[in-house]
Amino acid sequence: MMDLRELYQEVILDHGKNPRNHRFPEPHNREGRGYNPLCGDKVTLRLQLDGDKITDVGFMGQGCAISQASCSTMTQAIKGKTVGEADALFSKFHAMVMGEAGADDDFDSLGKLAVFAGVREFPMRVKCATLGWHTLNQALRNEGGEAKTE
Ligand code: ZN
Repeated sequence: MMDLRELYQEVILDHGKNPRNHRFPEPHNREGRGYNPLCGDKVTLRLQLDGDKITDVGFMGQGCAISQASCSTMTQAIKGKTVGEADALFSKFHAMVMGEAGADDDFDSLGKLAVFAGVREFPMRVKCATLGWHTLNQALRNEGGEAKTE
């Protein structure tokens, strides 16, 4: 059994300090911006969508280690995925951090993202952990404006 709590600390520290895909991909054809007023986290996400596939993705942002680490692990998880697959991941991730019934059954399919299960005990932190995902949703729908966690 892996200790999720220990792994959580490790992933937040690692990805918070050295975020992956911390750059803007060129070319890109989608952009989303997100803001979490409760914590002050900001993120701009850009991605290249070829047909239905996310072929490249990167982000720049500032904020707490959880928001940055969550964006970082998200970009790793969705790169190469279809929009449908990314949507499905977001649904599972969201159910997990919200502590919804049955969500634990899907931990295995979330891979590294499963370490964020710990934030469910801290409602303020749930918004930090989901900011990147809300921003992704907005970028994929190309809705413009800013994704907010409120
Ligand atoms: Zn935060």
